[in-house]
Amino acid sequence: MSSADRHAFRRKLTELEAPLFATGAAAPSALEVTQSLAPLAAAAGPEAGPRAERLARLYAYGSATERADYQAEFGACGVRRFTAADGRVIYMMPIETFPNHVNNVYLVRQGAHTTLVDAGTLTHNATEDFRRAGAALARSFGEPADTLDKIPDCVITHGHIDHFGGVGRWRDLGARVHVHEFDARIISNMEERMVVTAVAVRSFLSHAGVAPELRGELEQMYVSGKRIFKSVPVDRVMVDGSRVGDLVMHHVPGHCPGHVCVQVDNILLTADHVLARITPHQAPESITPDTGLDTYIQSLEKVRRIPGIDLALGAHEEPIPHLNKRIVEIEAFHRERLAKVHAACEGQPRSLVEISKLVFGPRVSYDRLLALEETGAHVEYLSRRGQLEIANLDDLLAETDPVIMYRASKTIPLPDSLANRAA
Ligand SMILES: [Zn+2]
Ligand SMILES: [Zn+2]
Repeated sequence: MSSADRHAFRRKLTELEAPLFATGAAAPSALEVTQSLAPLAAAAGPEAGPRAERLARLYAYGSATERADYQAEFGACGVRRFTAADGRVIYMMPIETFPNHVNNVYLVRQGAHTTLVDAGTLTHNATEDFRRAGAALARSFGEPADTLDKIPDCVITHGHIDHFGGVGRWRDLGARVHVHEFDARIISNMEERMVVTAVAVRSFLSHAGVAPELRGELEQMYVSGKRIFKSVPVDRVMVDGSRVGDLVMHHVPGHCPGHVCVQVDNILLTADHVLARITPHQAPESITPDTGLDTYIQSLEKVRRIPGIDLALGAHEEPIPHLNKRIVEIEAFHRERLAKVHAACEGQPRSLVEISKLVFGPRVSYDRLLALEETGAHVEYLSRRGQLEIANLDDLLAETDPVIMYRASKTIPLPDSLANRAA
């Protein structure tokens, strides 16, 4: 069961749901639903078959109640409604921003005012998903048909392309764009940001021990995905505690320098800071200031201290009913990974490339870069505390771009919390 299979099923399912929940187009027969979903469901995992059957049943003889139950459980074409304690309504809209990569874009309604949280991208699939989500808002949730054409404010949670790539579309439609001060230039001056980061990545890769020919290839991958975006002016630069209407921004650097979580009363839109299943990606602060594992963990603690949060909604994957429990899991995951990185450097000095291979196993293409960055973030955390030391100081003095070799320090032991987990 690959992620591509799961997405193929989801795409077809959403398309088949549209006549029921969004477009009002001619409904397929139950048989057509079964026949088009069955081959995809087989490859998409154990939950896909029963879900396909439920949709087929709705088309065969579904009552209004059954349809309402289905919508309450799965949403209308994936669009789900949440209500905050103060009555504000939040819609979660799944948007396929890149092939086989889905973002949750949120629409917050406060009275007549609407705020979009994140912008999706401009790909064909993303555009289709927004169109269908707009139709579902009108048909299944009773919102005005032009809700998505009249967005006055668009908050970008952080400077990653799957979150802001489509911001130009909303700005052209009249939305004001709000971004935290540390990520504003990514959107308003993408060209500069790309070059600055590419140079930092180059130096990171050479210290890590990546061979020169592969270095060029990885650098290209780093910038290629981002080339599709053209800079868009930012209308308002936010800081920690800024408000957009009644929405409160919490600055949580780490995954990205200008990452914000958006508080809607007792619901927190955590974007990529906390996700239900994936542990958000970390890169070393040596590439980008205000990222890195230390910064990230401090930001996890910051979120944990926000009082009165009953539900967290991430920018990918499903809702997080117990935010604090999820934070504890993520912290435990990093402690375990720190212990693995430390253990990899016991006995003999290792380059970052070697550590990455020991921790993640062999990786190819973009995954390889992600694994190196993730390893780099953990090495940085341990080095800063003296738990890893540099084994080849003479090379560092003698060469311009030396490969740095790390070994587990004998003088500063691993803190108890990590040592216990290494066993
Ligand atoms: Zn991100
Ligand atoms: Zn993301």
